[in-house]
Amino acid sequence: MFIVLMGPPGCGKGTQSAKLIELLGVAHLSTGDILRQMAQVDTPLGRRVAECLDQGTLVSDELIVDLVAERIKQPDCRPGCLLDGVPRNVPQAQSLDELLATSKTAVDAVVEMQVDEEELFSRLMRRAETEGRSDDNSETVRHRMAVYRRETAPILDHYRQQQKLRSIDASGTPEEVFERIEAVLVGLN
Ligand code: AMP
Repeated sequence: MFIVLMGPPGCGKGTQSAKLIELLGVAHLSTGDILRQMAQVDTPLGRRVAECLDQGTLVSDELIVDLVAERIKQPDCRPGCLLDGVPRNVPQAQSLDELLATSKTAVDAVVEMQVDEEELFSRLMRRAETEGRSDDNSETVRHRMAVYRRETAPILDHYRQQQKLRSIDASGTPEEVFERIEAVLVGLN
């Protein structure tokens, strides 16, 4: 089973992903986590990735498609994956469809977490204080939100056309949000 969790930066994807992989019994595929590890390594590629992370710009689609193709081959992904942070634009969504089709599978559902942008901005600023993520400063956060609106939001139409889109209200406590996600995924596993 392949579920995509989508939403603007700060919407709580990370928290919900951790709960969802337990519920669904699938692996967690977070391109952000993989890239943050890559950025720790002092190589030309590591430095390029680190630069994108610091600026909040997207790394190349080619790199992402390679990372996803490698990750889904790993044994823990056999029951499926929760895709967190990918696809991030329409070309990535198309590549993912093609990649999964080669193993005779497909995305089962896409959960879109909807939250008001100003609420997100204050959440991210709070996260910057507690977690110290280097891309959680106000300029990068605004940029990441703009990238989401421009690049990532058009994917919603891609999946709406495939009748896979399930949008939920992601305001409120993590428990309330999780219940809403559970409710739209009923019957899938
Ligand atoms: P995230 O943890 O998903 O918010 O991702 C953090 C950063 O990693 C993003 O701002 C991008 O720079 C990069 N990134 C993560 N996933 C992707 C992706 N699918 N395509 C391009 N860049 C990505």
